[in-house]
Amino acid sequence: MIQLIRGFRDILPSDVPLWQRIEQTAVELFEAYGFAEIRIPIMEKTELFARSIGETTDIVEKEMYTFADRQGAKQKADELLTLRPEATASIVRAYIQHKMYAGDPLHKFYMTGPMFRRERPQKGRYRQFYQIDAEIFGTGSAYADVLLISMLTELLRRLGVDDTKAHLNSLGCPECRPAYRETLTAYIDARADRLCEDCQRRKTRNPLRVLDCKVTACREAMTQAPELIDHLCDACRDHFAIVTESLADLSVPYVLDKRLVRGLDYYTRTTFEIHTEVLGAQSAVAGGGRYDGLVEALGGPSIPASGFAIGFDRLAEIVAQKQPAAVPAPALFIAPIGEEARARAFPWFIELGQAGVTCDIEMGGKSLKAQMKRANRIGAAHVLIVGETELVQGAAILRDMNTKAQQAVPLERLVATLVAELG
Ligand SMILES: [Zn+2]
Ligand SMILES: [Zn+2]
Repeated sequence: MIQLIRGFRDILPSDVPLWQRIEQTAVELFEAYGFAEIRIPIMEKTELFARSIGETTDIVEKEMYTFADRQGAKQKADELLTLRPEATASIVRAYIQHKMYAGDPLHKFYMTGPMFRRERPQKGRYRQFYQIDAEIFGTGSAYADVLLISMLTELLRRLGVDDTKAHLNSLGCPECRPAYRETLTAYIDARADRLCEDCQRRKTRNPLRVLDCKVTACREAMTQAPELIDHLCDACRDHFAIVTESLADLSVPYVLDKRLVRGLDYYTRTTFEIHTEVLGAQSAVAGGGRYDGLVEALGGPSIPASGFAIGFDRLAEIVAQKQPAAVPAPALFIAPIGEEARARAFPWFIELGQAGVTCDIEMGGKSLKAQMKRANRIGAAHVLIVGETELVQGAAILRDMNTKAQQAVPLERLVATLVAELG
């Protein structure tokens, strides 16, 4: 038989209630702060991601699902398409394309959906993975960053994860970063022979990325490297101070993480990750930061923005440990015995569902014993039994599956009675 693609996954009905709870909790929280949902395409022109995520990143270099729009014909650059590896680029594109900055540039968006990266398959990593995103456009305020971090912390708390810690760093700005970059490049050049192949390539175009290389030799070579946080200009230092002071005011736990970097020029100032220790080793479940240069880099006006992405798959795994979600069970299972009873009972089933009573019915001709077995298996709270005798007597039997108590329900007021009792 045909199996799904390696690195892809099915989210089965037994897991979906948990996913829905996470999504509903996020939506409720984000909308309370004025975020509006945006829905963006799953595919974009490759160029959008190359320009926004950066040509020198692992994502763009190795991991994107890119293909030609049309086979055969000589390809033009804009006919190369990519399955979105993240959401921010598309949201920025939509913001610019629909001139949402005109009038009031301030907009808060959220979205949720699948992303695609051709990563090496490993446990907990998927090539189609899900993210929850939130972005704030049109303000450079440090408080916007605080809002994002506090929303993430609160979302996790509402989902039963209360050991979170925000890792924070500042990436500076076009005022202070160039000088730091030179200092860093000088440090790297003095140790270039000890660095991995990727870093050899990165060091000129993207020296900050050398700081977060996971290769042991690179980490050892970089232990004494100068830190950006110590080279901020006054404006960046003030901005960062507001973030940390406000988080402290709000009792949001955070730590300074000087190696938390993003290599591209339009990432500015605040950068953060939310870590938790659920599932053993401490690791990030969400990350984000300020990207004041991206809207302009993608062809829009100079408008500051910041945002985050939550790894939904991982979050679901974490929440499952803390607050497993039960598959919802119906309030009622209708068990008709015989052809005539079934014909009579089926419209009740339809009407009860329309009235909002969660219910199910036996549509085939199973025995009462088999039907009771099924009612038990799906966890129905009540069973309505109706056979020839009940039709003659004009009342069906409603059985409470917990207490085993039974009562007669007159057929002529059956739907109204059950709606009142179970709805
Ligand atoms: Zn600065
Ligand atoms: Zn390296």
